[in-house]
Amino acid sequence: MTARKLDGTAIGRAIKEEVKKEVEALAESGIRPGLAAVLVGDNPGSRVYVNSKVKTCAELGLYSRKIELPGETTTAQLLELINSLNGDESIDGILVQLPLPNAIDTNAVLEAVRPEKDVDGFHPVNVGRLVRGQACLEPCTPAGIMEMLRRSGLPISGKRAVVVGRSDIVGKPMAFMLLHRHATVTICHSRTKDLPGVCREADILIAAIGRTAMITGDFVKPGAVVIDVGMNKAETREEAERIFGPDEARLAEIGKKGYTLVGDVEPRTVAPIAGYLSPVPGGVGPLTIAMLMSNTVKAARLRRRLA
Ligand code: NDP
Repeated sequence: MTARKLDGTAIGRAIKEEVKKEVEALAESGIRPGLAAVLVGDNPGSRVYVNSKVKTCAELGLYSRKIELPGETTTAQLLELINSLNGDESIDGILVQLPLPNAIDTNAVLEAVRPEKDVDGFHPVNVGRLVRGQACLEPCTPAGIMEMLRRSGLPISGKRAVVVGRSDIVGKPMAFMLLHRHATVTICHSRTKDLPGVCREADILIAAIGRTAMITGDFVKPGAVVIDVGMNKAETREEAERIFGPDEARLAEIGKKGYTLVGDVEPRTVAPIAGYLSPVPGGVGPLTIAMLMSNTVKAARLRRRLA
């Protein structure tokens, strides 16, 4: 037996199609949802993310504005920008690409974004509402995973869920979302004792760690749903073979690009045991961006008090 693939690319495409239709419907009322994407400094990874968000806005008919600031930007300057975006009628969502340069007070910046425009769901008001189970703008990655589970017809209520990772952007909100859908949730982290044993209790196992292929077959209960959030790189043929087995496409990719994208899960040992597995790439990644688009439309409607 091998795990069924949870196809994030296909699910992301379906979500984006729905968002596009909503954007078209809003256009009939003269409304065009708008996203401001703020990029500070010259982190190449951040640039790629911001560009792909802006590109997706264009594909779906949303207005977008990319604002690039130099690495020397001060907290005060950034706060001034956020303030002006907060009052800008053409902007429904404000996204500040993380990580910000060290000299900037990230918390002050995230708290400056108006909660109604906080499409990343990082503002304490949205975090508080999420914890309380109230309607809010939810962080995109865990919201995308919930969509993946829902659209794949995978039940959550009564299941044992284990989330490995306790970050504010993935692990913690993920755990609360699963809890609100009536899973029994355990959150693990770097000091968890007997991590494989705890993970083996999971019907739904979420790996949001940032450690290459750390979740191996001995962490997985037979038939479990395994969601791989991690985004890491394997740079040698030996490493790729250990993680994927004899996968010619992966080896060719290393030959061509110098790396292949790898999650926190080791497919070679996990796929024969799990019931469902999300791949990397093509799993959680495409959902994150789809949910950002969905959140921007949601923010546009909420701000205008539309249902
Ligand atoms: P963080 O580094 O903020 O958090 C990692 C978490 O993993 C921490 O809670 C940490 O524990 C835990 N951890 C680290 N090592 C171990 C270990 N050996 N055993 C158990 N737990 C461990 O990462 P993020 O949550 O931001 O991201 C996680 C991964 O997901 C990364 O690979 C990131 O690139 C990827 N990601 C992917 C996205 C997508 O769209 N596909 C979006 C966001 C993230 P502790 O708290 O004790 O340090």
